[in-house]
Amino acid sequence: MPEAPKAGPAKSATPKPVVGPVRFSADGRRPRTLTMRAWSIRHARFLEALYNTFSSTLLRLDPLFRKFGYGRAERPVALVERNVKGVLFDCRMCGQCILSSTGMSCPMNCPKQLRNGPCGGVRANGHCEVIPEMPCVWVKAWEGSRNMIAGNAILDVQPPVNQALRETSSWLTVTRNAAEARKNGD
Ligand code: SF4
Repeated sequence: MPEAPKAGPAKSATPKPVVGPVRFSADGRRPRTLTMRAWSIRHARFLEALYNTFSSTLLRLDPLFRKFGYGRAERPVALVERNVKGVLFDCRMCGQCILSSTGMSCPMNCPKQLRNGPCGGVRANGHCEVIPEMPCVWVKAWEGSRNMIAGNAILDVQPPVNQALRETSSWLTVTRNAAEARKNGD
């Protein structure tokens, strides 16, 4: 008697999350990203200076962005931002970057996505309670901030994440806001 065809793996009906750390995976975390993240935190001062120069350049390009359209620039700029910051910071594209206030340690890599300091679960060795092999991003943020000129910005209280900005370019948002503030004489 012929064998009945085996049923394939059942397809999951669970939809992908629309918000949240969509690419977050404790198991899939590559050591390379942790190594690069550690490098960025150690060189926070250099990256701070680099970003200041870069953001001034972007601000000078504001007329060009306006002519071309910020909306049209969004996709290519976000693509570059995702790749550059992905390598350096393991960026999660929250769209409202606060690396300048967190010692170049991305707070969105915290499994709890805390934006105002660590939870109460930091291990004695300074590692995360959820991912024991990962140093707490806030312990690292403090270390990185001590290397920066504007390091005390880590004490500023951050607003909740605006989920509407997720996956958008933080570079463009900062540039547009700075250009508008300059125009209004703020
Ligand atoms: S704070 Fe947001 S934009 Fe900045 S590196 Fe982290 S996820 Fe990316």
